[in-house]
Amino acid sequence: MIIRPYKILRFCAVVVVSILVAVFVPDFLGLSINAVFWACYWVFAVLMAALALFGRFRFRKYRAHKMLNDFEVPVPELSVTAFDHQKEAREKESLLQSFFNVSAEAYWDFNPSIGKVFWSDRAVQIVGVEGGIGDSFASLLSNMFESDRDVFRNTISEALEQKKGFSLEVRLHNAIQGMRSLLINGNPQLNAEGHLVRMIGTLLDISVHKTTQRDLVYSIYHDSLTGLKNRRFFLEHLDEEVIRATNRPDYLFALIFVDIDRFNGINDSFGHDFANNVLREVGDRLVRFCSDDSLVARIDGDEFGIILKDLDGIKLNENLKSMVYNLQSRLKHEIDIDGRKVLLNVSMAVVINSGFKDVEDLVACADTTLKQAKKNGSGTVQFFSSGIRQKAMELYRLEIELRKAILYQEFILVYQPIVNIRTRKVSGFEALVRWNSAERGFIPPSDFIPMAEETGLIVSMGEQILRMACATAKAWVDAGHKDLWVAVNFSAKQFAQDNVKDEVSRVLAETRLPPKNLKLEITEYTAMKDSEKIEDVMKDLSKMGVQISIDDFGTGYSSLIYLKRYPIRTLKIDKSFIKGVPTDPDNTTIAKMVILMGKTLNLELIAEGVETREQLDFLRAEGCDLIQGFYYSKPLFSHDAMRLIERYANKSVPYHVEGALLSKV
Ligand code: C2E
Ligand code: MG
Ligand code: MG
Repeated sequence: MIIRPYKILRFCAVVVVSILVAVFVPDFLGLSINAVFWACYWVFAVLMAALALFGRFRFRKYRAHKMLNDFEVPVPELSVTAFDHQKEAREKESLLQSFFNVSAEAYWDFNPSIGKVFWSDRAVQIVGVEGGIGDSFASLLSNMFESDRDVFRNTISEALEQKKGFSLEVRLHNAIQGMRSLLINGNPQLNAEGHLVRMIGTLLDISVHKTTQRDLVYSIYHDSLTGLKNRRFFLEHLDEEVIRATNRPDYLFALIFVDIDRFNGINDSFGHDFANNVLREVGDRLVRFCSDDSLVARIDGDEFGIILKDLDGIKLNENLKSMVYNLQSRLKHEIDIDGRKVLLNVSMAVVINSGFKDVEDLVACADTTLKQAKKNGSGTVQFFSSGIRQKAMELYRLEIELRKAILYQEFILVYQPIVNIRTRKVSGFEALVRWNSAERGFIPPSDFIPMAEETGLIVSMGEQILRMACATAKAWVDAGHKDLWVAVNFSAKQFAQDNVKDEVSRVLAETRLPPKNLKLEITEYTAMKDSEKIEDVMKDLSKMGVQISIDDFGTGYSSLIYLKRYPIRTLKIDKSFIKGVPTDPDNTTIAKMVILMGKTLNLELIAEGVETREQLDFLRAEGCDLIQGFYYSKPLFSHDAMRLIERYANKSVPYHVEGALLSKV
C-alpha cells in the first residue's frame, strides 16, 4: 500500500484535533467525564486516525487536480471531469474511424469490452453483405465459406485470449463480386497495464493474387492444350509411386506410354487446329477409359502417359493385357471433328514396376519399350522385358561413350568416289563418318548415328564432320582439282537449327573452301519435315553457292512439289532400288521413273549402291549422270582418296579401284 503525503497530513490533523478536544473541551464546558466515555473516545480517535492514514476516501476534484499536478501537466480548474474524458475518447474514436473510412485499406476495429466491431467503408465493400454489415463479426462469418468459419473463430479467440496478432486467409461470397479471397490481419492494442482494449485489423482482397497464383500452379502442372496433367506433374507422381513400391515390396503399379502413329501426317494433311483437336479427343478417351485413381497426362507432343496404381498381383499380366488392348481399340475408333473423319493407330509401351529404384531408370525403360513398339510397326503394344532393359542400358552406355568421342574427336571420315558414268572421271566424294573407338575399333554409322540424332549429339558431331570434310576438300582444290566436290550428310536435327547458314559459312571461311566445292546431302524425310523452314535454309545456302542434294530419293514422300520449290541441284537414287535393277521389274520401273523425273526437272542424278556391271549398263542406258558404289570403289581413307585423285586425274577410273590403292575400309 502506498502512503501518500496527503494521508500523513490527514492523520496528523486527526491526532491533533483528538488531543485538543480531549484537553480543552471538558474544561471549557465544565464537564466531568467518566472513564468509560474516555475509553470510547480514544478508541474512536484511534479509528479515525487509522482511517485518515489508510482510508481511500477522497475529494474527487481535489485528487484529479493533484495527480495531474504531480505530472506537471497544467490542467485548467474544473475542466477535467470524468464526463470530459469520455467525450475526448469518443472524439478520438470518431477521428480514427474517419481516418479508416478515407483510407484505401479496409479496417476493422473490435472493442472487446462492449463486444462491438467497427467496419470501415472499404471493409464493408469487401465483405459485401446485403443489408449492412452490422457491428459484429456475424455477417462476415455468414458470408464466409463454411470450411473457413471455424478456423476464423478459433484464430480470433486465440488472438484475443493471448493478446497476440494474427493473419489468416479466408474465402467468402461477396454479394456483388462472388467468391473472394481475403487476407485478415489483426493487431491487439493494450493499455498501460497490459489489458487488451481493442483489436484493430485490416482486410485485404487477395482474389486477383490468388487467381494468378492458381493459374501459375495450374500452368506448372497442366498441359494447356488438353487440360490434362503435364510431363512435370506426371514425373513427380511417378517418383512417388516408385518410392511407395520401394517401401512396400507388394505394391504394384504400371506405367503406360501411348504414342499416336504418324501423327505428323495428320498435322500435314489436316492442319494444326484439326491435329490439336485429335490430341484433345485422345486425351478425353484416355481419361474416360482409365479408372479415377489412374493418372493420365500428356507428356510430349503426341505422347501420353498413364500410371495405373495399386494393381492386383493375381492374374496381373492377363488383366493388364486385356485392359491395354481394350484401350487401344477404343483409341482406334473413328474420330469425327466437324464432319472430318480420321482413323488413328497407336503404339503402346507397358512397364510393370519391378525393382526400379529411380524414376529415370523406369522412364528410360518405358521409352526404349515404346521405341521397340514403333520399330515393330504401327499399332504395336510392347510389354517391357529384361532384354529391353539390357538394351536400354547399352544405349545409355553408348550415349556416354558418344559424348566422350565428340570431346576427344574420335570420328574420322572416309571418302567414297562418285564417278561420272560417261567420262569415268571422279566428280566428287561422299564423306562418310566412322567412329574410331579406342575400345571397340571402327564402328559403322548405323550403330551410332540414330542415337546421336535422338540425343541431339549429332549437332556437335556434325560440326566436326563438316570441318574435317571441308578441310580435306580444300586440300584437293589446292592440289589443282578445282571442280572436285565433297558431299557431306546433314541430319534433320542439324538442319532444324536456327544458325545452320552461319555455321556452314563459318566453317567454309575457316577452311577457305569455295562454297561450290561443298554439297550438302539431306534425306527426303528431312526435306519434308518442316518444309517452310527447310526451304528458307536451303535458299540461303544455295545463295551462298553451296549445292543441295536429296539423299535416299524414293524412300520418302518423293513429292514433285518440293523438288520444284527447293533449290535442289542433285538427286541420289536410293540403293534399295538400284539393288533390284535390271532384274526386279518394280525396282527397275521406279529407277527409270526417278531418272526421267530428274532429267525433266534438270537435276543431276546420282545412283548409289552400284555393285555390278549390269546395274552400271542399265543406268548408263537410262541417262543417269553419276554413280557411287562398290563397283568402282568402297569408301577410302583421305590419303587414299588423294592418291586416287592424283593417279586418275587424266585417266578413267578402273573398276574396284580400291584394290589398286593401299588401305581399304
Ligand atoms: P548414305 O548417305 O545413303 O550413304 C551411303 C551408304 O551406302 C554408305 O554407308 C556407303 O558406304 C554405302 N554404300 C555405298 N556404295 C555401296 C554399295 O555398292 N553397296 C552397299 N551395300 N552399300 C554401299 P555408310 O557409310 O554405312 O553410311 C550409312 C548411312 O549413315 C549413310 O547413308 C548416312 O545416312 C549415314 N551417315 C554416314 N555418314 C554420315 C555423316 O557424316 N553424317 C550423317 N548425318 N550421317 C551419316
Ligand atoms: Mg548420303
Ligand atoms: Mg543414301
